[in-house]
Amino acid sequence: MDCQGLTGKVILPCDAEYNRARQEYNEAINKYPLAICYCCDIQDVINALLWSERQGVQVRIRSGGHHYEGYSVGTNKLVIDTSFMNGIRINSEDDTVEVQAGSRLMHLYKTLYNSGYTFPGGTCPTVAISGLVLGGGIGLSTRYLGLTTDSLIEAQMVDANGNLLTANHCQNENLFWALRGAGGGNFGVVTSYKFHLRKINKITLFELKWSNQSARLKFLQVWQEWLRNLDTRISAFGRIYKPGPWLFGFFYGYPEEARQILEPFLSIPGISFENIEYVDFIDAVKIIGEIYPKREAFKATGRFIERQLCHCELEKIIDIVNAAPTEDNSFIGLYSLGGAVSAMKTDSTAFFYRQANYIMGISSSWECKAAAPVVIEWVESGFKYIYTLSMGSYVNFPYNNLPCYEYAYYGEHIQKLWSIKKEYDPHNVFEFPQSIKTGCE
Ligand SMILES: Cc1cc2nc3c(=O)[nH]c(=O)nc-3n(C[C@H](O)[C@H](O)[C@H](O)COP(=O)(O)OP(=O)(O)OC[C@H]3O[C@@H](n4cnc5c(N)ncnc54)[C@H](O)[C@@H]3O)c2cc1C
Repeated sequence: MDCQGLTGKVILPCDAEYNRARQEYNEAINKYPLAICYCCDIQDVINALLWSERQGVQVRIRSGGHHYEGYSVGTNKLVIDTSFMNGIRINSEDDTVEVQAGSRLMHLYKTLYNSGYTFPGGTCPTVAISGLVLGGGIGLSTRYLGLTTDSLIEAQMVDANGNLLTANHCQNENLFWALRGAGGGNFGVVTSYKFHLRKINKITLFELKWSNQSARLKFLQVWQEWLRNLDTRISAFGRIYKPGPWLFGFFYGYPEEARQILEPFLSIPGISFENIEYVDFIDAVKIIGEIYPKREAFKATGRFIERQLCHCELEKIIDIVNAAPTEDNSFIGLYSLGGAVSAMKTDSTAFFYRQANYIMGISSSWECKAAAPVVIEWVESGFKYIYTLSMGSYVNFPYNNLPCYEYAYYGEHIQKLWSIKKEYDPHNVFEFPQSIKTGCE
């Protein structure tokens, strides 16, 4: 293969590093790219796109490599990887930060915290800013500070022709709208983001665990009732495992008040672990980040829930958990929304499901390959039921077999997204299994 014109660090199948370089966070993904181009600057990105056009090679874009279904790599594709572009520049005069596309969340959280800032990112330390912000970005500050994407004020993107575009409220406004929630990889290679920031040092971290199967149904009942009129300063994730439920989150206030807000959960019998403490923001982020393994083989997805589920629907969720293939790594996940997310108008960004109360996910992982079919079957059959309760899918918790994926991810926003796709990527250079289609208006 003629690599002339490709710049940055280029890894080919013959290189010793190839097998490591092609690997995504999800070890179940097994793709063989033609080449992986680690870009060090914008010019490397431009060169990679021009090279792919000359060679007739399709591209995939990658930053943190955490896509659930592995759409940031592909067999016989050129992977344009921005993970070496991880600079972060804070401007404390106007409380903003410029973040290069490949920056990973823990690096970002730490850098910002050292200057006294918090950030509404996700919970996994090695997820990169790109995939997270382009799909929305949900975490433990979301109800108070909004989605990650709601803090975005500008992005720089290289389009299919190699032009560097600035997108904000004044330039390329439609593109800027689309970049806030339409998911990564659809319009071009984003090279950097500018966010506005909030100064906060300390928060209350809470973690509650039950080793009691009978707590699970009560937990689900409390969860949905609790979210109805919940203080916007609190955000939480829940997990329902076979042996019992788990709740963790951040409260932007003091522990005494957090305890009052958490009272409906605290009164569920069988709590085996309780921690409600006032900590530095960065310590809370680190404690939660430790949940995640360095890498794992997994199957997971998630859907938006907008209505109260009835008793028999909640019981059915517990039946799904009871059928889980493992006790400690198969769970139904709950991710709180509302607050600052629903306070913004639905059409203010491409993120469509602002009125949802929460996301319900289903997730499981395996260590031995032989266990994979059983685990995948459990996730797929659980998903079928969750599908009937829900209104749409979170593009950052994607699912290969999702019916009518464009409507599922974008609802009524798909019409506008088709026209933006046509404007910025008319030849569909940025195509992958669930990309926004061209020519569908
Ligand atoms: C363990 C784990 C924990 C997670 N926790 C959360 C969470 O708490 N909250 C949450 O909201 N989500 C969470 N996610 C989902 C996560 O937000 C998505 O997987 C996200 O897309 C990952 O981004 P990435 O850059 O790391 O991944 P990648 O696989 O590199 O990219 C994801 C998508 O973005 C595209 N993309 C990557 N870089 C660029 C770029 N520079 N320009 C344009 N497109 C690009 C890719 O082509 C791909 O389509 C989690 C995922 C995992 C695996």
